[in-house]
Amino acid sequence: MADMRIGIIGLLHESNTFVDSTTTRQHFADTSLDIGSDLIDRWSGTHHELGGFLDGARKFGFEPVPIFAAVAVPSGPLEPKTFHEFVADIVKGVKDAGDLDGILLALHGSTVALNEPDVDGAVVTQVRQQVGSDLPIIMTLDLHANVSSRMISGTTATVMYRTTPHVDQRDRGVDAAGIIARTVRGEIKPVQVLETLPMLMLVLKHDTNQEPAASNLRDTHAVIERQGIVSASIGYAYRQADVADMGTSVVAVADGDEQIARDAACWLARRVWGRRGEFVGDLPSVEQGIREAAAITQVPVVISDVGDNVSGGAPGDSTVLFDEIMRQGLSNALVVLFDPQAAAQCADAGVGSKVQLTVGAKTGNRHGRPVLIQGHVRTLSDGYFYEPQPRHGGRSDNYQGLTAVVETPEQHTVVLTSLRMAPMSLQQVVSLGIDPAQKKLIIVKATIAPRAAYRAVANQFVLVNTPGATTMDLSAVTYRNRRCPMFPFEDDATYMPSN
Ligand SMILES: [Zn+2]
Repeated sequence: MADMRIGIIGLLHESNTFVDSTTTRQHFADTSLDIGSDLIDRWSGTHHELGGFLDGARKFGFEPVPIFAAVAVPSGPLEPKTFHEFVADIVKGVKDAGDLDGILLALHGSTVALNEPDVDGAVVTQVRQQVGSDLPIIMTLDLHANVSSRMISGTTATVMYRTTPHVDQRDRGVDAAGIIARTVRGEIKPVQVLETLPMLMLVLKHDTNQEPAASNLRDTHAVIERQGIVSASIGYAYRQADVADMGTSVVAVADGDEQIARDAACWLARRVWGRRGEFVGDLPSVEQGIREAAAITQVPVVISDVGDNVSGGAPGDSTVLFDEIMRQGLSNALVVLFDPQAAAQCADAGVGSKVQLTVGAKTGNRHGRPVLIQGHVRTLSDGYFYEPQPRHGGRSDNYQGLTAVVETPEQHTVVLTSLRMAPMSLQQVVSLGIDPAQKKLIIVKATIAPRAAYRAVANQFVLVNTPGATTMDLSAVTYRNRRCPMFPFEDDATYMPSN
């Protein structure tokens, strides 16, 4: 049935409302911003849900009509101008696409603009207005979505990633493609129910390979096995967006029977709620965490800089852990810092040159102090690297701008990038001639997500409670817009299922 035409739209950004930066069209252009057919060239064959949509088009026999796809590295909220332009681009694209039988819509679910707390809901509403109430719209979301009722009421069905690290993005895209094909053919009639839970699960417990998140995943699969269920998902929320919809959610999709969807959503939501006490925890301090990491004999040890989580919107230039490693007199560490100024200084000096540089901590005052290093410039790179495997984020082509590698006399390897890049691919450093397996300590600017990549060289992961834009300390940030009461902020929160 190649005459089935399905519009493809993607807009993904995790917007941290607690950082000072804002996100512009140029930030998307630095990562990826495609209108029309370029979208297909960029995303075909990737492990992203957009790649899954395109796989699904071949598998289920429909023509993908590329409209718009924009992705940027997590950072502060979108500038109003960028938000309005993107909505206009999407609406125009839908208009110009001609007759469509349905739309596949890849959103993050935690996108905020300075003038719109629920960008995803706004996009859904605009697309729905454009196509009318009957056209199927199947939406995919990141596991870290803050799901709003607007997002659910404007779409036909919702499919969210199920794993952290997010290694199932392409699979969920294929799922969504299957749902839209079956819906357009009249084989199923999806109805969905959203349950919102007054709770938060701390990101240090999000690894779905381990408990308690592994139990959430098992329960999700159990629901999907039920008669009449099309899809089921748990939204783990994105805590760094201070919006009214921040919090845990469950979405269940059934074929034609809302009660089946409601029963499934409420069962799954009760199970997640029952586990809320397992999703809290403490992390070692900076000094203690580095001591623990240094004491592990099976190296390399991967140390997560939880407060400077690039894919949570932090700058990626915190020196707190590296500073402590040097203070404790340790050797042979690897750290990647966002520092365009220092990268340019290395480029000016040239490969092989001796340099003395002040690196990191240049974007604010929450991420340590600039650190003086001496060493020689080992490598300069244009910053492009390719990741063939399924990794968190689902990207294949990556770009971190002009990048320099400095080796110090203490055998520290300091990578200086000109664009912020989350540590989701070993190729980020392998492409620079670095063998991460030879390092003792590897600092990653993230929490759980890099494990999909770094498991290949290390089984030892240490999470450290560092200060910064994504710190684990719940008391370090003041919310103005979140629901209240909410566990674990307030112990007296209660969940009332809708059935
Ligand atoms: Zn996520």
